[in-house]
Amino acid sequence: MNGIPYRVWIPPRPTGGDYALVQQADLDRARVIRAGEVRLGDTVLADFPDFDRPVPGGLVRAQHFTDPYWATPQPVDDACSCFACQASAWTTADGPLVKLTDGFPWDGCEVRPAGDLLLVSPYRCTCGCDTTLADDWSAYDWSAAASVQHLLETGRPLRPGEELTPALATPAR
Ligand SMILES: [Zn+2]
Ligand SMILES: [Zn+2]
Repeated sequence: MNGIPYRVWIPPRPTGGDYALVQQADLDRARVIRAGEVRLGDTVLADFPDFDRPVPGGLVRAQHFTDPYWATPQPVDDACSCFACQASAWTTADGPLVKLTDGFPWDGCEVRPAGDLLLVSPYRCTCGCDTTLADDWSAYDWSAAASVQHLLETGRPLRPGEELTPALATPAR
């Protein structure tokens, strides 16, 4: 929680109902970071709707998303015609904005001020792939079947030519 000038309270994630299952290990290693610090493939679990209006001496409370999502951070597209962008009321007064996803799992973009607080489980994969973040997304393979499969399973594609372990190449039964 480096540099977060708030006392945060993260209630247990609700289970059942509309709440998608999140592995306990991913909840345990989740961190509170700024939206501008989210990286490709990180799992965004919750936000803090009242973080900029803290009660004196109080806590800012996490609000768990029913559907956590894998982030694909990218610049905001002012010309985007999706309903979320059309309906959003962000202005330059909100500071720099970041688009955390341009669709999945919703139909529209998720745009937030870069200073927003979020509960995020950092990207991790144990298949043996290169888990370091590439400097540029063009350093990933966005088209090969194995890479797209890895993206769907983990939130991040593979590097061009990267080998998959047999365990991931062959779905477990
Ligand atoms: Zn949009
Ligand atoms: Zn992997």
